Amino acid sequence: MGNSDSLSDREENASRHAARLINRLDRLARAADHRGGLNPAQRDALRYLGLANRFSRSPAALADYLGATRGTVSQSLIALEAKGYVTREPHPCDRRAVTLGLTAAGRAALKEDGGVALLAEAVAAGAGAEAPTLARLLDATLAAAIARNGGRAFGVCRTCRHFRAEAHAGTARPHHCALLDVPLGEADAGAICVEHAA
Ligand code: SF4
Repeated sequence: MGNSDSLSDREENASRHAARLINRLDRLARAADHRGGLNPAQRDALRYLGLANRFSRSPAALADYLGATRGTVSQSLIALEAKGYVTREPHPCDRRAVTLGLTAAGRAALKEDGGVALLAEAVAAGAGAEAPTLARLLDATLAAAIARNGGRAFGVCRTCRHFRAEAHAGTARPHHCALLDVPLGEADAGAICVEHAA
């Protein structure tokens, strides 16, 4: 066996080992997500609504982001509305659609973020100063997994090719989306978007 074959075997073994570690970390996080009267699917929905811009807070976009079925997402949203964590309002660009929002109680529940809080502490303890490197590698790993699945990237708005910085300088919404043809505020620019294009 040549050097390149040996290297390939080592990489494959390391990749499988890393995959098992990610899977175990996910299981630990899921267990923590069961606290506070919520389940992991409901917490995932709250997290998404805390990150997504106003054009992306729809049940369909949430299902795309989670790689879940519309039925599963619908059940989670019904439970979150019953708990008083989520609201439904008319969509800003499409009158036939709804946009989801977090109530004050929903935002408070999001702050007590079981699984993500556990993982953040574990990353700080395990990776320390290497945490930014770990985040970069996981970003690339997630992007590869999404590409293989044919899913959407849900990138941050200000990194999108349709983002026009300071197109309306001096106004409350100083940036512009060339795709949706709407002005964007700073909160929009820092949020993730279902229409994001690298
Ligand atoms: S600029 Fe891109 S990411 Fe931002 S709102 Fe428009 S489509 Fe979405």
